[in-house]
Amino acid sequence: MTFLSPRLLLPLFFKFQPLPDEQLKSEIVAMSERLQFPVGDVSLVDGSRRSAKANAFFTGMGRLKRIAIFDTLVENHSREEILAVLAHEIGHSKRRHVPRQIALSLATSALMFTLLHFAVHDPRLTAAFGVTPPTIAWSLLFFGILYRPISTALGWVTSWLSRKHEFEADAYAREAMGGPASLSSALTRMSRDHLSNPTPHPFYVFLHYSHPPVLQRLEALEGKTAG
Ligand SMILES: [Zn+2]
Repeated sequence: MTFLSPRLLLPLFFKFQPLPDEQLKSEIVAMSERLQFPVGDVSLVDGSRRSAKANAFFTGMGRLKRIAIFDTLVENHSREEILAVLAHEIGHSKRRHVPRQIALSLATSALMFTLLHFAVHDPRLTAAFGVTPPTIAWSLLFFGILYRPISTALGWVTSWLSRKHEFEADAYAREAMGGPASLSSALTRMSRDHLSNPTPHPFYVFLHYSHPPVLQRLEALEGKTAG
């Protein structure tokens, strides 16, 4: 799905066109070459028809990457901010975050299927809920109930890893842009446009946030905390 969604699914919901701003395109290509992340093609996505959220992502697994930028990012941000956001995305790729997250999700799936195997082959599971003789359908249902707390706990691990990766990608972008200023202002603008909570409770962040709160990211960028 990681491979297919930008090619097959996103074009169903968004319109992709070549980035009309030639100068921005050449700046993006120049930066990507400087960071040794060659880009073959930059397209503009009409994200504004759905929300004000700004975003950018890469597609393409081969040597030449394709960049897709939401029109909301282009319209609401300065050039330096756009480049900083792309440098952050390049950072995810350079630090090999995607293969790591895929490995983690494969590992959690393996755990889930192992537990499922034992659950459907043990008649005590359905018997504990008062169902005899055991059937696959009931086993699946009861397993789903029992597995939910485990999957919630695994979600905390996944989110923690994701937040860690965000700090790493921010640090990469700071280095690539020669300082924190451009990414800091991009993040500030985005969090305003996304109406995100600047000061969520740390425990709520632990439970639910895949990205660190913006103030923490800004502090890490400015070097006030280790990140
Ligand atoms: Zn990120």
